[in-house]
Amino acid sequence: MIATNPVDVLQALIRCPSVTPAEGGALTALQRFLEPLGFKVSRVMAHEDGTPDIENLYARLGTDGPHLMFAGHTDVVPVGNEVAWSHPPFAAEISDGMLYGRGAVDMKGGIACFIAALARLVEEKGAPKGSVSLLITGDEEGPAINGTTKLLEWATAQGERWDACLVGEPTNPDQLGDMVKIGRRGSISGTVTVHGVQGHAAYPHLADNPVRGAIKLAEALMHPPFDHGTDNFQPSNLEVTSIDVDNTATNVIPASAVFKFNIRFNDTWSAESLQTEILRRLDAAAADTTLRPGREPIRYDIVWSERPSQVFLTRNNALIASLSDAIEKVTGATPQLSTTGGTSDARFIKDYCPVVEFGLVGQTMHMVDERVAVEDLETLTRIYRTFIEQWFANAIA
Ligand SMILES: [Zn+2]
Repeated sequence: MIATNPVDVLQALIRCPSVTPAEGGALTALQRFLEPLGFKVSRVMAHEDGTPDIENLYARLGTDGPHLMFAGHTDVVPVGNEVAWSHPPFAAEISDGMLYGRGAVDMKGGIACFIAALARLVEEKGAPKGSVSLLITGDEEGPAINGTTKLLEWATAQGERWDACLVGEPTNPDQLGDMVKIGRRGSISGTVTVHGVQGHAAYPHLADNPVRGAIKLAEALMHPPFDHGTDNFQPSNLEVTSIDVDNTATNVIPASAVFKFNIRFNDTWSAESLQTEILRRLDAAAADTTLRPGREPIRYDIVWSERPSQVFLTRNNALIASLSDAIEKVTGATPQLSTTGGTSDARFIKDYCPVVEFGLVGQTMHMVDERVAVEDLETLTRIYRTFIEQWFANAIA
């Protein structure tokens, strides 16, 4: 079957219940659409102790350069309260012009549109002069350990190299054509433990209340601002996300206080320079005894969580222009070039080739009644098709 209708492809994908880490038949469905188009398809299992095994898919059409990659994921988040859905989450029913189902916008819909776009191109004009690859993971909504990073390493070991990448995540806040993501802020989390001396609330001189120190240190991270934003990014922002002493008594001074924070940072910083700045602020605040007159400096330690996500900005003008022009041609709208929002798998891909992100309207992602307008599927398919042709024309010129 030549998959020129994105609705057919999306319905087939939604009907595979691929809640992370389950493959759910989604990659097999994908393979059935890709092979008739001439793709060479590889299914790649990834293992890591302590995490579920994940199956991923890499498919390539063509053998020569230039080489365009489309990246995405077929795994989906759980359905939540299934009875609250107005259409069953894996039935892919259409009602009033909307296609319902988990993954409709995040992001089986984006994959379906890309396949349909390519199928139309192959049917009408033949395969592009160069190569197109799909890098599809089953681990984007999970720990993201056995997904995009491992698949990129696997493909690179096979000799694969790419010139540009489009990620099909939902990027539009309200309407198709609103927003292209050309970068992402970085993210770092940490846990600070302030050590005190437990004691009786009526005899504070015999104790050392760690809450006083925790307030001081937390304030030092929240003020002053880390920066005021840059040309392409909003200001870096730190949120204290938890303060905890684990104390049920009102007459006991606790022994320690713990707070957690997360900072989303712009290209003023690298993860490393920002960690240095955070430590500088904490050390300076620890020496400030305003809240604890006559005491020794605050004793604290800090643990950084997970791997930090680095900030990145794509500067490949041909790639950005090919996408913006395609959006403008099809919708008449000029998309905003943005770096807002959370992290995405683009943060891994940027180490291999320039990457931009554009997909469906994100409003219902992860929600009950996730759905996409059938009309948007057709429009996105036309945008992707125009983009593919434009990108190859630019790359070959
Ligand atoms: Zn997604």
